[in-house]
Amino acid sequence: MTRSVFVINAGSSSLKYQLVDVDSGAALAGGLIERIGETTGEAKHQAPGIEKVVERRVIPDHEHAFGWVLRQFDQHGPSLDSAQLLGVGHRVVQGGARFDRAVRIDEDVQQQIEDLAPLAPLHNPANLQGIRSARATFPGYPHVAVFDTAFHLTIPPAAHRYAIEAQVAAEHRIRKYGFHGTSHQFVSRRMAELLGRPLDEVNTIVLHLGNGASATAVRGGRSVETSMGMTPLAGLVMGTRSGDIDPGVIFHLHRVAGLSIDEIDTLLNKRSGLLGMTGTGDMRDVLQAADAGIERAVEALEVVGHRLRGTVGAYLAHLGRTDAIAFTAGIGENAARVREIALEGLEGLGIVLDPERNAGRGERRISADGSAIEVWVVPTNEELEIARQVADLVG
Ligand code: ADP
Repeated sequence: MTRSVFVINAGSSSLKYQLVDVDSGAALAGGLIERIGETTGEAKHQAPGIEKVVERRVIPDHEHAFGWVLRQFDQHGPSLDSAQLLGVGHRVVQGGARFDRAVRIDEDVQQQIEDLAPLAPLHNPANLQGIRSARATFPGYPHVAVFDTAFHLTIPPAAHRYAIEAQVAAEHRIRKYGFHGTSHQFVSRRMAELLGRPLDEVNTIVLHLGNGASATAVRGGRSVETSMGMTPLAGLVMGTRSGDIDPGVIFHLHRVAGLSIDEIDTLLNKRSGLLGMTGTGDMRDVLQAADAGIERAVEALEVVGHRLRGTVGAYLAHLGRTDAIAFTAGIGENAARVREIALEGLEGLGIVLDPERNAGRGERRISADGSAIEVWVVPTNEELEIARQVADLVG
């Protein structure tokens, strides 16, 4: 019999959902509603065996969005009644130093998510909106918050503390939190399965390379270092985010270039990274441009590769012994060239790619037989990870 979890990722003007069969891992249905609150929204609902539903219509708020979703399940299926819904899982971006695992949502948890909003002003309020509307839409089911940061709360102080005045850091909760935790957890656990070894004996470097990108060093199933920081702006080069930058650049942009703090925020979060360097934030276009010999695309890939190699090298040192490197997410799973440049020249550190395996598709080992450290592509599945955590908690 099916046991399912309804997984929700709510943004300020969007709602992504998936109904997940927790035992088989299959997506029973899913959809995306965009431009909520704008003059025309767009809503899509999809499930195996039914024709994809696409509608353009006004969707004033998240509650109306959920109303639309329920109607799709009623009219087009699959039937929510026969899906044996265990509960509803909510992706919440910032769980602070408080939430080291998924929790059942009550008024107190909602309040704490709200209290953490200053640390994630774009995300937590939107996640909360989703939670409130979903609790109204699915009363009588347990609702669970699964935090992007939770997996990283095992990072030791030496790695999560910033070297700033202690009192300021404490007062404003300034430290490394890290993000993409559900993905890093899913992939590192899967990596141990693929190696056929107990999770607590396996050390993995996970490279989650999507529009947002982060690396995590995982020792025995626990995150010990990660590249994003107090916010998702730190670390690797991303689609539109700069990743690591000298903080002094911000003062310079303000004092000398005359940009306001909000303008600098937009510059670093929305107009930097691949987009800022090449004019497109989409890796497929950057790769195509580089193949065509366009200089700024070639140079951007060099920056991406340099940053990745430096991160891998640092994490090899932090872990002391590394069993595997796992690539995941849109770029990590699909861009052979990026995987190649990420590990180029690391043969002396025991990392050797097999070009033919690297060019293949799907979950697989891509290192050469003699490589001391195995390299794999491991497709991530954040919805399934959220669904499993919900099932573990309430099932
Ligand atoms: P998000 O962080 O939004 O979930 P994804 O994990 O979907 O992002 O990754 C999006 C990125 O993956 C984009 O830069 C896209 O160009 C890249 N990507 C997707 N497919 C390919 C491909 N076949 N080759 C190269 N890059 C790809």
